[in-house]
Amino acid sequence: MSREKTPVLYMVIPCYNEEEVLPITSRLFLGKLQQLIADGRIAENSRILFVDDGSKDSTWELITAFSQEDPHFAGIRQSRNRGHQNAVLAGLMEAKDRCDITISIDCDGQDDINAMDEMVEAYLGGCEIVYGVRNNRDTDSFFKRTTAQGFYKFMNRMGVESVYNHADYRLVSSLVLQSFAEFKEVNLFLRGMFPLVGFKSTSVYYKREERLAGKSHYPLKKMIGLAVDGITSLSVKPIRLITGLGFLASLLSLIGIIWSVVSYFLGKTIAGWASLACIVCFVGGLQMLFLGIIGEYIGKIYLETKGRPRYIISERTRSLPPVKKNDPET
Ligand code: UDP
Ligand code: MG
Repeated sequence: MSREKTPVLYMVIPCYNEEEVLPITSRLFLGKLQQLIADGRIAENSRILFVDDGSKDSTWELITAFSQEDPHFAGIRQSRNRGHQNAVLAGLMEAKDRCDITISIDCDGQDDINAMDEMVEAYLGGCEIVYGVRNNRDTDSFFKRTTAQGFYKFMNRMGVESVYNHADYRLVSSLVLQSFAEFKEVNLFLRGMFPLVGFKSTSVYYKREERLAGKSHYPLKKMIGLAVDGITSLSVKPIRLITGLGFLASLLSLIGIIWSVVSYFLGKTIAGWASLACIVCFVGGLQMLFLGIIGEYIGKIYLETKGRPRYIISERTRSLPPVKKNDPET
């Protein structure tokens, strides 16, 4: 299948305190957009949509200045910092009724923009989702590389279907986004959610570079947070494991009870303080851990039932066209 209409592309780019890097990368994004337009791959009214995630520096002023210079630049501003995932979601939801395809990408120049040609090509060839997958991690530090790889492996073990080495650089068509909008959860883990939506998908491979300027907002603590959120939002496997272990523990204690009762009647019971203390500590520790895991899920349920908005947009640049529903696909 190939498409008849030249698609309108929106690049969705989350930015949080990125005044150092935006002046550099905005030129690169614009260059790419213009090249794709000149090649006839995407429509002239395509946009670069920056999502300012409540930055405290001059990021929003930069975005508005860009949009006045060149109407291909547009921006929305979140009312406060809500984190990367919510920023991307805000951008995608704003874009979905204004375009045919979105490409979400970080604003720091780490993801190779040249992979976009292949992504658009794959879309034109009939795919609805194209995952950007990095094919090496040479530019990451040893520590980042090992923790990140451990992260994907652990996620998959825990029952979260996610594409290995894919972060949030991906092409998603507005057709997919219309269905995705029905996923109402407030605990977001986008890279694990898109595979659940389905539709025809593929991957393109690229080399991940170092940040062009500024510094990372994802230290180890936030990475662990993202992993825990991802797992508890998308999988109940940890609770199943607890149930399994609980079952095993009950079985062992049953054997223990029979053993102690038999020993009692045989008159072989002796003072066994050390062994008893060990068992109490061990079981107590396990129970605390398991309660914690279950508590994590209860916390998630609490947040979900409140159903608060997942993003709040406080401002939009004038270069963002009004919403018009796409013509139904012919
Ligand atoms: N980001 C965001 N909100 C946040 C933190 C980060 O929108 O609260 C954006 C950030 O501007 C960047 C992207 O998310 O475009 C990825 O962040 P970063 O480069 O710091 O993470 P790393 O690439 O080191 O994992
Ligand atoms: Mg980065």
